[in-house]
Amino acid sequence: HAIERDGEDLISTHCCFCGMQCGMNIRVKTETKEVIGVEPRYDFPMNGGRLCPKGVAAYRQAEHGERLLSPLIRKNGELVKASWDEAMELIVSKIQEVQAQYGKDAVGVYSGSSMTNEKCYLMGKFARIGLGTKNIDYNGRYCMSSASFGFNQSVGIDRGSTNPWSDIKSADVLLLAGSNTAECHPLSMPYIWGARDNGAKLIVIDPRQTKTALVADIHLDIRPGTDVALANGLLHVMIEEDLVDYDFINKHTTGFEKLKELVKKYTPEYVSEITGVSAEKIVSAARIFGQSKNGMAMFARGVEQHATGTDAVSTYVNLCLVTGKIGRKGSGFATFTGQGNGQGGREHGQKTDQLPGFRKITDPKAREYIAGVWGVDESEIPGPGLSAFEMLQALGSEIKLLILACSNPIVSSPSVAHVGDYLKSLDFFVAIDMFLSESCELADVVLPSTVWVEDDGTTTNVEGRVLRLRGIDRTPGESRRDWEIICDLAERLGRGKYFKYDKPEDIFNELRVASKGGIADYYGITYEKLDNMQGVFWPCPTEESEGMPRLFEDLKFNFPDGKARILAFEHKGPNEKISEEYPIFLSTGRVVYHYLSGNQTRRIESLLNFCPDPYVEMHPNLAKKYNIGNGEMVKLSSARGSIEVVAKITKIIREDMVFVPYHWGKTLAINHLTNPALEPNSKIPEFKVCAVKIEKKAEI
Ligand code: SF4
Repeated sequence: HAIERDGEDLISTHCCFCGMQCGMNIRVKTETKEVIGVEPRYDFPMNGGRLCPKGVAAYRQAEHGERLLSPLIRKNGELVKASWDEAMELIVSKIQEVQAQYGKDAVGVYSGSSMTNEKCYLMGKFARIGLGTKNIDYNGRYCMSSASFGFNQSVGIDRGSTNPWSDIKSADVLLLAGSNTAECHPLSMPYIWGARDNGAKLIVIDPRQTKTALVADIHLDIRPGTDVALANGLLHVMIEEDLVDYDFINKHTTGFEKLKELVKKYTPEYVSEITGVSAEKIVSAARIFGQSKNGMAMFARGVEQHATGTDAVSTYVNLCLVTGKIGRKGSGFATFTGQGNGQGGREHGQKTDQLPGFRKITDPKAREYIAGVWGVDESEIPGPGLSAFEMLQALGSEIKLLILACSNPIVSSPSVAHVGDYLKSLDFFVAIDMFLSESCELADVVLPSTVWVEDDGTTTNVEGRVLRLRGIDRTPGESRRDWEIICDLAERLGRGKYFKYDKPEDIFNELRVASKGGIADYYGITYEKLDNMQGVFWPCPTEESEGMPRLFEDLKFNFPDGKARILAFEHKGPNEKISEEYPIFLSTGRVVYHYLSGNQTRRIESLLNFCPDPYVEMHPNLAKKYNIGNGEMVKLSSARGSIEVVAKITKIIREDMVFVPYHWGKTLAINHLTNPALEPNSKIPEFKVCAVKIEKKAEI
């Protein structure tokens, strides 16, 4: 896995920039260990020798001049260089001071899902038994949590995909909802082309005619926030036209009669009024999906980042359940994980309501088991605490000290001006990052971590396939690997005996035991196995097992009666309605050249050149109404804030909405405007729709 070639080493690893986790070799000068380039890996089946623009440029972080190379401490208002000892001793003294005065839970840990499985596991363990706080959560709360809750309530298990990606080519129909796959998951497109080459139909549900929707057989240009109504409409047509599989429904599901009753009123005409999609298109899409033998429903943040996100996820899952499209090649459902380790990041206990192996923290048996693995008493595991955004809202009140790792909430959170105020109200703020992000700029201490090419460990990709990352053996300047920083902190807090690891594999071996018997069972996955195979799908309960690429082949779902739950939800619509003052819908999303808050990709010149600034997409008819020309500055405002951006006039978007990508911070952050309303089950904020007004800048 490290090949020598003409004075270079090729280190075999995976791309950090989305849940595909494409295989790549990092080119490193043997003598100096300088990172000089990247090559795609032809042996890794997921990408088979391809990389997207982000993947090609990702390695440029490694030698970037803005990397943090020493700890920083705030002195007289400025962040200045400090030694590790000075920084760590200050942090430890502040933690002890805060916990003595306000209690253990006054320290919060906010981590991220771009980290390896080993680090995600360690963050959950460190918060609970290193710090003794119940308040640990992570940025995946903004990303995957609705899919996670929806899958659990429908089929009792949360793996991002029921099928390996290779199954996509066997589908007769692909229904993509709220996913601009071509930009956000680019190398999933060859799989979709493969299905099209085999004759599959493509249905895309999206308010914009994205690059993905452009190639669809049917594009349902849905009004933002109306997915539940649309999916109910599709179900209505399929039931009316007898396109459902009663044999499967009767043998393998519960709840169909309730759904049938509920969707009676969701006629194509009624749904058309709610969604803005024509009744004819709704009927056509339902017929294509219902009449196809095999098909997959695939969705992403466009469906999930809503105050009704979990209802929408389960309603789309219903499409597969009522037609029996599950448990075989080309039939199933999936959510596209955006973060590099979006799947693994949500499995190992860094969610506030969860212990490793997808165990519930409130389950006495789970607590007892994990306490045994950690060598503590069950009563020493605190929780559940606050979810990610709730934790931010509690800064300065319930939480006095925050440890932030691998996340940039002052860009990625809704209503970011408030988040800035919350961060500033902390008694003490510690950030761990490789670059000085907008959030780090507010910290009292910043600790420099390594970049992903210097990381050994594992991630779990969009399919549920666990993969081996191999790191270059170097730590530039005084940077350190996150897991070593956390273990050092635990040692200095007097909890070091619980954090004795020499290498990531030691953490992984503990994680395997912690996950044993849980839903996401990694017990049978070893580094050796990962080195010899192209990843292993969980569950993999024994060392003899080769994992389970396709779930539910036995048609047994993860409930005591083995039956999947068909769940019925009414359309409720967005939390914030448009009004006379704010008459336009705003939706936010991503572009192919940037990753999450942009902390990494905005520093890579080649990516920045492609897309240097945010913009607002608006339909020509909407632009005409406000007398706005292409390229003119526009002020967008919601009840929470305003930003000024350049107008991009385009026919790809509905007339009743605008769209702005979210990868920029400070005055360019569109999250100044977004609605912090949380979905009650998953606690995901409603990023995908809020009400705004538009003003032409010259007229302000
Ligand atoms: Fe990286 Fe995703 Fe692009 Fe693959 S598709 S190269 S994993 S960003």
